Amino acid sequence: MPENYKDFHSSFMNQQYPSALLEKAVGEFSKLPGIGRKTAMRLVLHLLRQDQPTVEAFGNSIITLKREVKYCKVCHNISDTEICQICANPQRDASLVCVVENIRDVMAVEATQQYKGLYHVLGGVISPMDGVGPSDLQIDSLVHRVGEGGVREVVLALSTTMEGDTTNFYIYRKLEKMDVKLSVIARGISVGDELEYADEVTLGRSIVNRTPFTGTV
Ligand SMILES: [Zn+2]
Repeated sequence: MPENYKDFHSSFMNQQYPSALLEKAVGEFSKLPGIGRKTAMRLVLHLLRQDQPTVEAFGNSIITLKREVKYCKVCHNISDTEICQICANPQRDASLVCVVENIRDVMAVEATQQYKGLYHVLGGVISPMDGVGPSDLQIDSLVHRVGEGGVREVVLALSTTMEGDTTNFYIYRKLEKMDVKLSVIARGISVGDELEYADEVTLGRSIVNRTPFTGTV
């Protein structure tokens, strides 16, 4: 590495953009998770090489998504309609509710084709470090949903992290007096793994082999 690499690197990062429009676009892209300024620049230049309708379709898809996306009133999954396709499907077992952190987990469990119940999307897990408490999540609505009756079993399918365990326990305390079976997915998933990164076979097996939740973590 040359002596002046650091200087070179910082001058690259601080370099003047030939256009304020370019700088603004790079700035917006680099706000995305996992995108640094170099990658942002590559993406922006790529878009700039596309024709006008392609770039407009790209921009509009994001604007329309944010403006028009809905969340299912029952399970809080992202949906184009008030009740999502999964909740509205009469073939699914409405007495079985799988609790997951986010929509990516719904997609991961759906991909296993091992689960025919419904979902409840929490919107995250309890994490005091990140300032996320129970009231920031869809936990009250889960308790309400179970309280309305018709739910026979709640399957906890959160990440096997400390935050996931804490959330499992919190939900257990909320539901333990209610007439509902509480189970947790089998730990075929490695401890510390996030659900969405598990392969389909492992995740499918974990759902099928779920075990009663005992309140110990
Ligand atoms: Zn739904």
